Amino acid sequence: MNASLATVSYIASTILFILSLGGLSNPETARRGNLFGMIGMALAVLATVLSPRVTPAGYAWIVGALVVGGAVGLVAAKKVQMTQMPELVALMHSLVGLAACLVGFASYVDTSTVFPTVAEKSIHEMEIYIGILIGAVTFSGSIVAFGKLSGKIGGKPLLLPGRHLLNLAGLLIVIYFGWAFLQAETISAGMLPLVIMTVIALLFGVHMVMAIGGADMPVVVSMLNSYSGWAAAATGFMLSNDLLIVVGALVGSSGAILSYIMCRAMNRNFLSVIAGGFGTGGGTVTQGDSAQPEGEVSPITAAETAELLRDARTVVIVPGYGMAVAQAQHTVFEITRLLREKGVTVRFGIHPVAGRMPGHMNVLLAEAKVPYDIVLEMDEINEDFPQTDVAMVIGANDIVNPSAQDDPGSPIAGMPVLEVWKAKTSIVMKRGMASGYAGVDNPLFYKDNNRMLFGDAKKMLDEVLGALKS
Ligand code: NDP
Repeated sequence: MNASLATVSYIASTILFILSLGGLSNPETARRGNLFGMIGMALAVLATVLSPRVTPAGYAWIVGALVVGGAVGLVAAKKVQMTQMPELVALMHSLVGLAACLVGFASYVDTSTVFPTVAEKSIHEMEIYIGILIGAVTFSGSIVAFGKLSGKIGGKPLLLPGRHLLNLAGLLIVIYFGWAFLQAETISAGMLPLVIMTVIALLFGVHMVMAIGGADMPVVVSMLNSYSGWAAAATGFMLSNDLLIVVGALVGSSGAILSYIMCRAMNRNFLSVIAGGFGTGGGTVTQGDSAQPEGEVSPITAAETAELLRDARTVVIVPGYGMAVAQAQHTVFEITRLLREKGVTVRFGIHPVAGRMPGHMNVLLAEAKVPYDIVLEMDEINEDFPQTDVAMVIGANDIVNPSAQDDPGSPIAGMPVLEVWKAKTSIVMKRGMASGYAGVDNPLFYKDNNRMLFGDAKKMLDEVLGALKS
């Protein structure tokens, strides 16, 4: 393939990636968006492999890497549970960061390119330094995020004394060694500052994500997504690959926009999330300043739930992480269909951070073929709860916690929530009284108009469906 054909293919890939991102902004066009992305990526890989910069001697390496990488990706995609998706994504981000580091070191020791001027050489070295810096932060940060999301590392924020000063000192050292790196006359002289910076960047990545508490993890996931884009763009600069620069910038900026949207959804200030210290360990009831809920828990059976649903005129279903764990979306769809046939108005209320990744619930409901027009966002449905007969919460917890509004001492204070307690009756479906990801007790469970349907969401919904049919 000659160079101009490769350039044309790169431009076509870029357009396909932009169309792909555009398609992903709406559930109706998401499938087509994915298809555009897949074609764009296949074209990009083909154009790169067949470009004049790859010599025939390199093909064996490329095919070997494609087979190994493709096999690992295939096995991971087949094996991983839907609920483990965010962890997989975090791991993938770490690989982008690692790749940026490796490409950086390889470009530095590669002497095959001769730079005509000192300025061009310095620019190339700056690209290497910044590329490795972003890559290393992304790599170690994503590994820690993987640990936190999979529960291997506790969600409690690690707050070292003087952590902001530590970060500042790290930044100054990185700037100093950057200067030393650019002054170095030989590769061996430049290697020491480069390695020191890499170690500091790795430590900074660990420190940054360790300091962020459980409840802020959604923002971290999208932020690392953004970092991985910038790491890819930096790799593009190092390799003088325009497509990688454009794609990296697309991922970087869309990740940054997503982080901003997530922050707004959780009513959090982006800078204070990055500064860390918010949120608590997942899965435990916090003591802290938050008030202990008062009142009694009123359990309900599946048959009674079916009765309430059958008698209702309006029902709002609020799915959460537990629906994903139980894989209950198909039964939810069956119940929805049955109720709609009986003339009940059924709608879904989706919280922006429900589940464990952005859009988690929308993906599950789309998979179960729930019509898009009855799936509403939090802001669209919240004011309708007072006119709702039954609000059915399926495996959700933090996103329906009234203490976010009522208790300034709560770790999730200020986070907007779905106000299900304003419905005539709310039913919460979960296995026990355990807290959610943010580790906060939930006063909703003790409210007079709330009923608890204890058990695995799929099992209980199957029973509700059975009772509705009988
Ligand atoms: P939560 O984690 O708050 O609560 C989920 C609840 O589901 C648990 O309390 C659990 O209770 C219940 N559950 C678990 N398994 C089952 C099952 N098989 N059947 C029935 N219930 C089950 O989830 P939410 O969706 O309400 O909130 C999301 C949380 O995750 C927020 O705190 C958000 O910040 C965080 N987060 C979100 C991310 C995102 O991008 N969306 C990323 C990372 C974190 P029990 O054990 O008693 O059954």
